Amino acid sequence: MNIPVDDPRQKIKSVTVNGERMPLEDAKVSIMAPGLTFAATVFEGLRAYWNEEKQELFVFRLDDHLKRLLDSMKLLRLDEHYSVDTLREQLLEDLRSNGYREDTYIRLQSYVDDWGSMTAKGPVSTSIVSYPRPRLDAFRTGRDFAVSSWRRLDDNASPPRAKAAGNYINSRLAGLEAKESGYDGAIILTAAGRVSEGPGGCIFLVRNGVLITPGVTSGILESITRDSILKMAEETSQATEARDVDRTELYIADEIFYCGTGQEITPIISVDRVQAGNGKPGKITQAMQALYDGQVRDIAPEHRDWRTPVYGNQED
Ligand code: PMP
Repeated sequence: MNIPVDDPRQKIKSVTVNGERMPLEDAKVSIMAPGLTFAATVFEGLRAYWNEEKQELFVFRLDDHLKRLLDSMKLLRLDEHYSVDTLREQLLEDLRSNGYREDTYIRLQSYVDDWGSMTAKGPVSTSIVSYPRPRLDAFRTGRDFAVSSWRRLDDNASPPRAKAAGNYINSRLAGLEAKESGYDGAIILTAAGRVSEGPGGCIFLVRNGVLITPGVTSGILESITRDSILKMAEETSQATEARDVDRTELYIADEIFYCGTGQEITPIISVDRVQAGNGKPGKITQAMQALYDGQVRDIAPEHRDWRTPVYGNQED
């Protein structure tokens, strides 16, 4: 395989499958794996942030991601595989052995491997792949979104609370539609027509100084970034509401942003070509970005338990 020179795969020394490290090209899945055919796969996307001054890489909310992976496995009835402790050790070892000294993304996946039926619960395999991933430019500039014609999955059909591969068909369709119509991203509504989330992140809006986000029963993934934002807002006396959000609130909001591990906090500067506020990243959005950056990079002193140092170069 010819990997382009600027591709992050160039920097991957090894990946981890079932606790064993190997080159990326040696990590394989069976073509008959139920994880492939029937999407019996759950996953997590995490980020680790480099702090130059401390010469340390910090994984953000590692245990929360690991717990969510186990919850997703339980929802899909995958056989138990590794404990949080084992997964934590494998993930940190994967980062250490790659020796990253820059912002990194980690994809952790558990799936039914080998051969089996639609209801096979095992054999489960778990893979960890980490690679450099810098912050998106959109963090600063913002993005133009559209309300999707696709509706969000329902808890009683394909539960969005599970971070399961199959749920991403819904995300893919919404994402493709938005891109093909000239937008950067999609906002998906629930079957009842309320705001749910984007294809890979949650939505916040600001109205009259209040930071509003759809509740966890609005067909969303229980986002760790969303939770961090709500906690940081509370701690800084920023008023918040987690409640049903109507579509039309998007068109009159003063600010809107998209959040998730990948996007971090990305300003949404228009929805369906209707400007949000003055069409620039808003004040509260920027304040939340600054708080978030302080947390993920271990600059702010609060929430030390949100950050796991990878190399252990620091004194405690
Ligand atoms: N919703 C969906 C559908 C996602 O894929 C993600 C990304 N994991 C999120 C929300 C954001 O979740 P988190 O903040 O935990 O990354």
